[in-house]
Amino acid sequence: MHIFKVAKVTEIREKRGVLLQFPSRENSTPQVPRERCPECARLESRIDAAISEIRAVVQGRFPSVGGKLARLFEKQDLRNKAIDAFYSHKRSAHPRKTA
Ligand SMILES: [Zn+2]
Repeated sequence: MHIFKVAKVTEIREKRGVLLQFPSRENSTPQVPRERCPECARLESRIDAAISEIRAVVQGRFPSVGGKLARLFEKQDLRNKAIDAFYSHKRSAHPRKTA
């Protein structure tokens, strides 16, 4: 009886291991071929650049708080514009069939 119990536990563990090692490939395969769109890459790097500029302003020293905030808003505006450009590009260049 004891041996049987141990065997059962091992079996369950093995099943779990298999599940972890082999996630179902069928479900994760994207429907659209995943070629990198250069415009997406460009716009994404513009967002990244704007975000690191925001971070630099936040961490940087400014002569006045007002000056810092003005600079921050300016950078946030740049980031928002970059995000808008990215999404409008996505909408026009990569429309989702299901949307
Ligand atoms: Zn694109």
